[in-house]
Amino acid sequence: MTAKKLPDNLHRDTLAVRAGIAPSQYGENSEALYLTSSFVQPDAETARKRFANEEDGYTYTRVGNPTVTGMEQRLAALEGTESAMATSSGMSAVLLLGMGLLRAGDHVVCSQSVFGSTLRLFAVEFAKFGVETTFVSQTDVAEWRAALKPNTKLFFAETPTNPLTDICDIAALAELAHAGGALLAVDNCFCTPALQRPVEFGADFVIHSGTKYLDGQGRVVAGAICGSHKYVNDVFWPINRTAGMVLSPFNAWVVTKGMETLAIRMRAQCDAALALAQWLQQQPNVAHVYYPGLASHPQHELAMRQQSGLGGAVVSFDVRASGAEQGRKRAFHVIDSTQVCSVTTNLGDTKTTIAHPATTSHGRLTEAQRQAAGIGQGLIRVAMGLEHLGDIQADLARGLHNLNTLS
Ligand SMILES: *Cc1c(COP(=O)(O)O)cnc(C)c1O
Repeated sequence: MTAKKLPDNLHRDTLAVRAGIAPSQYGENSEALYLTSSFVQPDAETARKRFANEEDGYTYTRVGNPTVTGMEQRLAALEGTESAMATSSGMSAVLLLGMGLLRAGDHVVCSQSVFGSTLRLFAVEFAKFGVETTFVSQTDVAEWRAALKPNTKLFFAETPTNPLTDICDIAALAELAHAGGALLAVDNCFCTPALQRPVEFGADFVIHSGTKYLDGQGRVVAGAICGSHKYVNDVFWPINRTAGMVLSPFNAWVVTKGMETLAIRMRAQCDAALALAQWLQQQPNVAHVYYPGLASHPQHELAMRQQSGLGGAVVSFDVRASGAEQGRKRAFHVIDSTQVCSVTTNLGDTKTTIAHPATTSHGRLTEAQRQAAGIGQGLIRVAMGLEHLGDIQADLARGLHNLNTLS
């Protein structure tokens, strides 16, 4: 059975549901899950051609799998890139990016506020192979400019940051990287292509942890690099078919189905997050709210421009406290008083999650590093899910309203 060819120029909401591989001979309406490690070859000569890359066709799932291909095509359609390569996790996408682009003697400029494991990959693991990284301010483009060297090959950014939601100017970084002969990769985990498409602002690669909003329901670990055919097919794929940081077909299928509801989930979660942020601002026991959708956010206008007018679904806030010790005690009280929110550091789930960054995601930093990063003991991060907003407000109010009665 031949599938109908999709018209060109479909809207993103349609691509999220329709883009990907064509149905099989059975005409299944939902995407098939090809849960197989290998593929039977019609004859020895065809096998020879496929293994020699002279003919298209699946051979072995480390090299390629139709369910994984379908997920890659759908994600590339959403990001507006020519191609995408799925990986076993978000972190293996960053590892594959580095393995593909960097050699001993190369230099990287990276925001100092990126995801903790990303920071460690550049600072510790790539350093072992002779790749040097300079960490710079998330928001001050002058620091990126000053860090550029003749051997700089890569700029790496993530926006907004976790947990303080600082925004970097993708277009400004792309221009600077390209003028210096470097490429720009942007981790788009927090916004997803439903809000922000970094290549439209000049980025060369988009990194995803599919574990977060792409799956959207907290079920699987997954990742991807989106970029041009040239890099995906000629640089990243040859490494990954050998190194094997591939996405399992089952997880690819889960993410494929997750992307169908990405846009409506993101819109609903962003709307609720904005309302929550505005409500938090009015709470006497909240000292500060970090949310790009608020006019008081230092990069509010940039965020609105880059993120389709939406602030994202992650809201962080400081509880009012007289010092670090009281801050931690009060933050723990608010977290432990919740009965609906899940106390976990994951995000991008339909279930609202609540976390204390200073003792979890950022617990390995020294107190001085944490202070420099602005992550205090009174800071709480909430990643808004799809529950009724009123129930989440009541859940936070439970602890916030009686803070003054704590010893
Ligand atoms: C979770 C996360 C990652 C890592 O993704 P995994 O799928 O857990 O490997 C990378 N970047 C950001 C911004 C994340 O939130």
